[in-house]
Amino acid sequence: MPSSETALPGLGPTQPSPVFQRLALVGVGLIGSSVARIARERGDLAAEVVVTDSSPAVLERVAALGFADRIEADAARAVAGADCVMLCAPVGAYAAIAAAIAPHLMPGAIVTDVGSTKVSVIRDVGPLLPASVRFVPAHPLAGTEYSGPDAGFTTLFQGRWCLLTPPQGTDPAATERVAELWRRAGSMVEVMDAAHHDRVLAIVSHLPHLIAFTICGTADDLAMESGATESGSLEASRSEVLKFAATGFRDFTRIAASDPVMWRDVFLNNRDALLEMLARFTEDAQAMARAVRWGDAAYIEDRIGRGRRIRQGLIDLKQA
Ligand code: NAP
Repeated sequence: MPSSETALPGLGPTQPSPVFQRLALVGVGLIGSSVARIARERGDLAAEVVVTDSSPAVLERVAALGFADRIEADAARAVAGADCVMLCAPVGAYAAIAAAIAPHLMPGAIVTDVGSTKVSVIRDVGPLLPASVRFVPAHPLAGTEYSGPDAGFTTLFQGRWCLLTPPQGTDPAATERVAELWRRAGSMVEVMDAAHHDRVLAIVSHLPHLIAFTICGTADDLAMESGATESGSLEASRSEVLKFAATGFRDFTRIAASDPVMWRDVFLNNRDALLEMLARFTEDAQAMARAVRWGDAAYIEDRIGRGRRIRQGLIDLKQA
């Protein structure tokens, strides 16, 4: 893997020059503000960082935090003259953003993104871009349950994977430039097919979030119902759910605290892969339920053992 000191063709061999002259970030929440902070701290991602966001309150906050060189309320003005434009908004907003910025993109510019789904991004953005623009979709596998410009931090991508899904025919030099930006941000980079990305992410990220949102909803429903039951009921009250949450439930609540708009868009834009993984999961959960009902101790122990081994594998890969 090339080090963060790698010089790109045409860039200085010893003192790495910025990968891009002007990086425009469209959306400055957790991910966009982390990229901006890293660019500011390192100086070799981009010579200038311009940011835009649909929310005036977010832009006001960005001004106060001071990690952008220029703030533009108008996306068209933000992307003009940028040699790299990175979409960092929820994926459901991408088509409208692409339509708004397309006429203002500089010929030869690279458009990239950080969206959690990739087939939908290629479908929604690709056809709207001028032929002179190079498109390199990307997805950094890093995040937290927090959102907004205050949530970003410079070590977010450190040691984390960033997956690039360039459509067939993408200029390899453009892909390499985006890869270099992410390597300098601390990521390990891998190129993969967009449909494959969506299937992998459906099982490792999207389904776990769906389960977390659902289990919190189930617990909340139980707590609400308890108010209507007679005293002495076995239902948990809401205060009990919170009071005794320091068990497995607590870990689910952290994931379930994630941004509703972002995750709504992820679910709706990776529908097929998510539903397929959910169907497989449901079958496996039913098998576990059957083992519990029939007292199949060996089956139960085997499944729990598999979970432990997966956790140990993550620890070994330093991804825990
Ligand atoms: P976030 O903190 O909610 O930030 C998104 C920002 O985009 C918000 O400031 C939002 O403004 C703004 N925005 C919404 N629509 C816009 C538009 N049409 N034009 C310009 N700005 C717009 O979300 P995030 O966590 O940074 O996620 C951003 C992207 O990264 C998403 O595509 C997500 O799938 C991807 N991603 C997220 C994670 C994660 O764990 N969070 C990890 C990897 C990738 P408002 O708040 O006013 O709507």
